[in-house]
Amino acid sequence: MHNFNAGPSILPGEVFEEAAMAILNFRDTGLSILEIGHRTTLFQSVMDEARQLAKELMNLDADHEVLFLHGGGTTQFFQVPMNLLNENQTAAYLDCGVWGSKAIKEARLYGNVDVVASSKDKNYTYIPEFKIPSDAVYFHYTTNNTIEGTEMLSIPETNVPLITDMSSDILSHEIDFNRFALIYAGAQKNIGAAGVNMVVVRKDILGKVNRKLPGMMDYRQHIEAGSMLNTPPVFAIYVCLLTLRWLKRQGGVAAIEKINQAKAELLYKTLEAKQGFVPTVAKKDRSRMNVVFLIPDPLLEKKFLDACKEQNMVGVKGHRSVGGYRVSLYNALPLESVKALTDLINQL
Ligand SMILES: *Cc1c(COP(=O)(O)O)cnc(C)c1O
Repeated sequence: MHNFNAGPSILPGEVFEEAAMAILNFRDTGLSILEIGHRTTLFQSVMDEARQLAKELMNLDADHEVLFLHGGGTTQFFQVPMNLLNENQTAAYLDCGVWGSKAIKEARLYGNVDVVASSKDKNYTYIPEFKIPSDAVYFHYTTNNTIEGTEMLSIPETNVPLITDMSSDILSHEIDFNRFALIYAGAQKNIGAAGVNMVVVRKDILGKVNRKLPGMMDYRQHIEAGSMLNTPPVFAIYVCLLTLRWLKRQGGVAAIEKINQAKAELLYKTLEAKQGFVPTVAKKDRSRMNVVFLIPDPLLEKKFLDACKEQNMVGVKGHRSVGGYRVSLYNALPLESVKALTDLINQL
């Protein structure tokens, strides 16, 4: 199989094997990871190693904490403003895609939102120019727009605290993670299994909001509890740990970036050269993680889909809101899969 799914998506084969083993007999205890207490030293060691490894792979300084929380990326759309934005204050947001616009909608429940720029006029197929107002409480953007296939690889220059949704490109390329006040990512694209998200937070931004926060929504309480305020999604966190270990064995973020770049270059080059295949995104803003394109000719489209089926290629259909095709090239997808797909396209 070649799995180009957008999320939940492909994970390394060895992660599936180790995860399957842990369900049957976790670390030779005779027990499944699904039936041990989260406060046992056994699971505590999983949580500690996962948080430590995440810090190491991102080169985080001591001011930043790593949490594994419930609720997917979508919960962070409201948990961020709930913790950081007072009702009479303004946060700046960039509107670059479906996910970003959802984050904007949720932030408006808690305070004022200044949308500094939007690319909605062209179906979010490019990253617009923008300016960050110096008095904004924070600036929020999505580094990789999973549905539309755009990506911002560089970090905006500003003194305003930066907050990003990195759900679909975290740990896929080198970036100075310490420049961010808060990063969040649903795990099911580049980190592990669905059911958990990773939050990286710089501690000094917390505790400034004047509303009352339920414990489960309060980042500070999660930090104090070592990301174990209640029963964490133990299995999903274990899969994250296995995937982070795998990434380290590959040589870390710098090494995986080289492969990710090669995969994306090969696919875009093939699409550019092939008549009838039309990438939708402005060249300078193309994502390395999600490659979006159209096949306007229905006959060619059918040939492509039939060939994909025949060669066991899954997950190439575009998001229901965009149509067309989307091929996702997350960390765990091998270059061989992209070669197989480009061979298929070239032979049509
Ligand atoms: C997938 C995705 C989300 C939503 O994640 P859930 O875990 O389903 O809530 C949010 N933002 C981005 C950029 C995504 O790719």
